[in-house]
Amino acid sequence: MESGGRAGGRKAEESLMARVKTGAAGPCPCGAGEYVLCCGRYHGGALPETAEQLMRSRYSAYALGSMDYVRDTWHPRTRPHDLQHDTETKWLGLEIRRHAAAGNEAVVEFAARYKLNGRAQRMHETSRFVREQGRWFYVDGSFPED
Ligand SMILES: [Zn+2]
Repeated sequence: MESGGRAGGRKAEESLMARVKTGAAGPCPCGAGEYVLCCGRYHGGALPETAEQLMRSRYSAYALGSMDYVRDTWHPRTRPHDLQHDTETKWLGLEIRRHAAAGNEAVVEFAARYKLNGRAQRMHETSRFVREQGRWFYVDGSFPED
């Protein structure tokens, strides 16, 4: 038996890949439909056309523990060195409030609900994205007052 956080992260990664491969039916964590028809496409290698699609797929990757995807879609300039799957946080839902794009820059404002230590919490962020060579990247976020 394996134990510890690293085994947990790998397991989540494997279960994600299994879902992508088998096309297992199930709702997408981002709430926009079937996983395989929604963020599963991007986790499987398709490129999001809009920053909102990237935002949704990054949220779903957090929810599924697919930290490689989170890392790969983070702009190299602002990407953290060490990204660990936070198994304490259970992501409960995503609400996109605003998406505005101008050329190769975009902002997406969202609210995400999650549970930490049994307590429901909410995160409200305005994220900035840039597109380089046809690929959208997350740059950074600010936290507007409610
Ligand atoms: Zn989705």
